[in-house]
Amino acid sequence: MIFLDNASTTKICKEALDVYNTASNELFYNPSALYKKGSDIHQAISRSKERILKYLGAGKYDNIIFTSGATESNNMAIRSFLKPSKKALFGITEHPSVYNVAKYFKDNGYNIDFVNVTSNGDIDLDDFKNKLDGSVNFVSIMHVNNETGAINPIKDLVQLSKKANKNIIFHCDGVQAFGKIDVDLEDLGVDLYTISSHKIYGPKGIGALYIKKGINIAPLMFGGGQENNLRSGTENTPAIFAFEKACEVIIDKCDRYKISINELNNYTKEQLQNLPFDIVINSKGNTSPYIISFSIENLRAETLLHMLEEKNILVGNGSACSSKKSGNRILDSMGVEAKYIEGSLRISFNLDTTKEDIDLFIHELEITIKEYKNNTNR
Ligand code: PMP
Repeated sequence: MIFLDNASTTKICKEALDVYNTASNELFYNPSALYKKGSDIHQAISRSKERILKYLGAGKYDNIIFTSGATESNNMAIRSFLKPSKKALFGITEHPSVYNVAKYFKDNGYNIDFVNVTSNGDIDLDDFKNKLDGSVNFVSIMHVNNETGAINPIKDLVQLSKKANKNIIFHCDGVQAFGKIDVDLEDLGVDLYTISSHKIYGPKGIGALYIKKGINIAPLMFGGGQENNLRSGTENTPAIFAFEKACEVIIDKCDRYKISINELNNYTKEQLQNLPFDIVINSKGNTSPYIISFSIENLRAETLLHMLEEKNILVGNGSACSSKKSGNRILDSMGVEAKYIEGSLRISFNLDTTKEDIDLFIHELEITIKEYKNNTNR
């Protein structure tokens, strides 16, 4: 099977799985328990935090809290800072776990504005500057877009925001960036940064929210007061330790694989463009090498996806969390022509994806599109 949907999730790596199993079997004590076995686990959680902060390039006194995943981290970050009397800015192409929170509050009367993107899918800086007025107290812009791979210039956006008002809180959803492109949080200057374990070969159901020193967030849930009263509930220790291990492994590999993933990305785009169909590549400009979005004229991507599935090739059509919804907010906002929107697929690599996988994919894609066109007379 060729799995080309790694932006939706990745298979847990052996190192993380081993840690998960050992932690489940041997380190199962409750970290809040007063006996030593409990406090040892509590300390191990603190060490995991310190290490993940280091991998993120965070400052010495910054913090992270573990959550059930990026969706929770994003909700927590946003809901801590939206105020009825203030304005908040969001990228128009944010993941649903950001966009739908913003939309909910907007529909309930909050002053929320969405910043447009360019035809490459990155934030339109002029539109950002225009919308960044004195009433803005919160900004949330993603680092790498999950559908197109477009990379936003987060450092510049933070600087513009802080120049407009030094008290603006800047949140960034870094789910598709961390472990894939260079991430150095001190350099970026963000206040809050979201990461997720299952996108980087860690277990599902665990993520984290980075919180810069001095930033106060509010809990989403109340309970036993774990995680410094910010996130109640017994910590998911096997997942936390395995997540830390996955971070360690990916940070080590990320740099070493940079050239080969870039080459694979260029090669795939070339091969797609050489196909004898009307295909546009939506991933252009400064993009993550791990994600390629492309569209085929007048074709239903969902049908094609299932036809490829029968040939043991799994690809994505947009964000997995929203793929059952029609239309495409991301491609629409980039100005992709209507005749291409429905026929949009996303392929995303992992570190083991090979040129041979791509050759087979391209070969089957060509045959499948021909079959599709023959069957539908398009
Ligand atoms: N943000 C982005 C950019 C994502 O790609 C995803 C996963 N599709 C999420 C947030 C949600 O992540 P999780 O599954 O950990 O909640």
